[in-house]
Amino acid sequence: MAEKRALERDSETESETETQSDNETNSRANSVGVDIVKSVKKRKYKTRYSKEWMSNFPFVKACGQHVPDKEYKFFCSVCNINLSCAQGGINDVKVHSSKLIFQFYLSIE
Ligand SMILES: [Zn+2]
Repeated sequence: MAEKRALERDSETESETETQSDNETNSRANSVGVDIVKSVKKRKYKTRYSKEWMSNFPFVKACGQHVPDKEYKFFCSVCNINLSCAQGGINDVKVHSSKLIFQFYLSIE
């Protein structure tokens, strides 16, 4: 579904670049195109949640039964939210934990 949307957006930016020779529009259209290519490449496979992540990141829990696609998500017990790990797996957890540390330092100031 998302891939279809990406293709539609891609053809849109193409026609835009052809009709407009404005530099600003061009660079913006290019960066959007790069984002789409990256996300399509990453979407080749999904990473499932792993219990083993809990040993490195104690705040990571499995999602509740009611959560759709819970296999590809993890639950952060600090923020009380479900987060996707489909794209980067444990890397998604690492990225989120670095944000947590950032928030922690903000909160003690
Ligand atoms: Zn969190």
